[in-house]
Amino acid sequence: MNKKMKTMVKKIQIASFFFLLSFLCNQNLEILFCILSYGIVGLEILKKAIRNLLKGKVLDENFLMAVATIGAFGIGEFQEAVAVMLFYQIGEVFQKYAIESSRKSITELMNIRPDYANLCEGKKITQIDPKKVKIGDILLIKPGEKVPLDGIVIEGTSTLNLQTLTGESIPKKITVQEEILSGSINKEGTLKIKVCKIYQESTAQKILDLVENAMNKKAKAENFICKFAKYYTPIVVVVALFLALIPPIMNKDSFVEWIYRSFSFLVISCPCALVISIPLSFFGGIGACSKRGILVKGSNYIEALAKTEMIVCDKTGTLTEGVFKIQQIEQIKASKEQILKYAAYAEFFSTHPIATFIKNAYEETIDQSKIEDVKEIAGKGIIAKIEGKNICVGNDKWMEEQNIPFEKREKTAIYIACNKELLGVIKISDTIKKDAYKAIEQFKKNSIKVFLLTGDKKEVSQKVAKQLQIDAYYAELLPQDKVRITEELLKEKSPKRTLLFVGDGMNDAPVLALADVGIAMGGVGSDAAIEAADVVIMDDQVSKVMQAISISKKTMQIVKQNIFLALFVKGIVLFLSAFGLTTMWLSVFADVGVSILAIINALRILIFQKKGR
Ligand code: ADP
Ligand code: MG
Repeated sequence: MNKKMKTMVKKIQIASFFFLLSFLCNQNLEILFCILSYGIVGLEILKKAIRNLLKGKVLDENFLMAVATIGAFGIGEFQEAVAVMLFYQIGEVFQKYAIESSRKSITELMNIRPDYANLCEGKKITQIDPKKVKIGDILLIKPGEKVPLDGIVIEGTSTLNLQTLTGESIPKKITVQEEILSGSINKEGTLKIKVCKIYQESTAQKILDLVENAMNKKAKAENFICKFAKYYTPIVVVVALFLALIPPIMNKDSFVEWIYRSFSFLVISCPCALVISIPLSFFGGIGACSKRGILVKGSNYIEALAKTEMIVCDKTGTLTEGVFKIQQIEQIKASKEQILKYAAYAEFFSTHPIATFIKNAYEETIDQSKIEDVKEIAGKGIIAKIEGKNICVGNDKWMEEQNIPFEKREKTAIYIACNKELLGVIKISDTIKKDAYKAIEQFKKNSIKVFLLTGDKKEVSQKVAKQLQIDAYYAELLPQDKVRITEELLKEKSPKRTLLFVGDGMNDAPVLALADVGIAMGGVGSDAAIEAADVVIMDDQVSKVMQAISISKKTMQIVKQNIFLALFVKGIVLFLSAFGLTTMWLSVFADVGVSILAIINALRILIFQKKGR
């Protein structure tokens, strides 16, 4: 509990004490104790009501509470007035507590926040706060410890448990020179790492920020509640006014009786249960996703995911491993070593999967000073000056554009040319992810249409589409073609449903932005993907997309249940109160009850586990 809430609890305790005392005293003392008690718990609400009124935000729940309770005082119902404020505040504390603890439990469940770092200075090792570690510092990570900051391993080998980070249960081997991400857990060996990112920029903190800030992007259902309250409150006030005036004038009934009814009508009408439980439900959904290594950047995306009709997939790195194998190196004007060398030099600064692969295949160290004027053309390839020569690396489109004479190959091929002359061709192949079969099958089962969009060769794409049984594929696309096709598909889909794009984020930023929900794969360690996408899947599993959709559907179901529950109970109690069949403080009790039920319902999503997973 934070400090503010602790003071609130204290206030409630003192106010309750005076409230109880008021029942034991004579008339005058009763009023005194009630005023005391009311002042302690109610003053804050009166202040808020006035503040909002001055800001032009008329008629919110604070206003309703203020009018109703002051009115109750006016007609001599002192204890009622206090009870209303008291219960309301108890409900508030409970709600705040629920939100705070669910927020905490989500980030705690993820269990990636580092607590300390072992700083090495010569032979001395000190335990320090991870926030105080600087770039270039050397840290020691013992077996069983959490990696506190992102870095590069400089000593030791080990395996890492990435489960909390990506949901991936198979440990990953790590050794010298390799990148290590904060939030993972070192399993066996002792490692020394050189820190390359400060705490705020490290993976663990970035993920936590992302999850905690996800609530700032509101879903339509949440905005609906705000709009709803805008119309609802004035209507309630008008009805209450009629209730207080019309019946007594018409029937010459007691004014006090009807004013009392109208005030309780006001109190009950506070939309607290809705206001609180809807955001909480979304937060639960976001939390349930995070636990599985799926980062959702806002409630609006939960809403959109639940309505998925089409999924547009990238091929390389999404449906296929993106880890290539060399099938053949065709030597035309140079040796294999030279071909690989020029390719690796030209690709040095690129992060494209093909570039990564070529750099790995060329095992020697690369002398950066020999590389000049690098230009990468998305969907085509690279041009660079290496040792003063003009090197072009890329696909057939790139060779055509550069006027380099060549013959087209059927397979996925990378052409390497030097000074407008083809040096050689590297033919490569990629394997389909095992997980992709399962994912496509599940999409189909849920009547979601799948489209494959890729920059790769037609023959290769056709084969992949056939193996995975994807109905439609579009091959040899440039990034702008992907945009055009996605735009067409967006027009084709039903207006109330959504289109998702799933890709590795490489060359796909425009489509990621264009789709209703842009999902980036393999977000771990890739800042660009984390920033561009709406949803980030931490490991490379496509099947996680279906999990995200299922969780979102469940979340929306709970949101609807809560809206219904709140409106239904409110409706009944409002009706009863208009006919004088309930007391004011009993109604508040009902309101707090509904809020609590709605909160419990919302938290259900956190323990949601779909069968068969
Ligand atoms: P996709 O991810 O759908 O395969 P991309 O737009 O990332 O599409 O790439 C399309 C094609 O462009 C690749 O298959 C490759 O032939 C070529 N290409 C793109 N970038 C590079 C690069 N850095 N080096 C070599 N070829 C590249
Ligand atoms: Mg790509």
